Amino acid sequence: MCPGSFDPVTLGHLDIIGRASLLYDEVVVAVGINASKKRMFTFEERTEMLREATGVYGNVRVDTFDGLIVDFCKANEIQVIVKGLRAISDFDYELQMAQMNHGLQGVETMFMTTNPLYSFLSSSLVKEVATYGGDVSASVPEAVHRRLLERVREQS
Ligand code: ADP
Repeated sequence: MCPGSFDPVTLGHLDIIGRASLLYDEVVVAVGINASKKRMFTFEERTEMLREATGVYGNVRVDTFDGLIVDFCKANEIQVIVKGLRAISDFDYELQMAQMNHGLQGVETMFMTTNPLYSFLSSSLVKEVATYGGDVSASVPEAVHRRLLERVREQS
């Protein structure tokens, strides 16, 4: 399972998802609903963009989850969470979460080091740069880029 909010999906996410799809028989990309957080895209939009972007992989399925990741894992018989690690700053929080998830349900977390091309890439940075008119076309799939520009226009 590759969990996240994917608001929106970036090439950094897709790099991890694609590499995970080579290692595992099936990969479930799980989009967190978490209605309390303010998002640029609804979970339906985030899910749709992910489905479009991961359609090329034969063994990747996109789903949504609300609540604890480990409950989703248990319900779907998933044993492994795959996460991308960008920098040491990611590690602190990810370590806590991995240990908590293992303690709660025995779910393992595998960390994949980010492709250096994407180590400074995050959805929040992409949104911020796009909001101020910067070019983020090299950071997200083309269809996501179009939607991002549309959303920025709507919001301005
Ligand atoms: P969250 O809402 O939990 O911050 P994101 O949707 O931003 O989640 O990202 C989900 C996961 O995707 C992260 O926990 C991380 O493992 C991975 N990820 C995000 N950006 C990158 C990147 N540029 N390179 C590699 N992995 C990434």
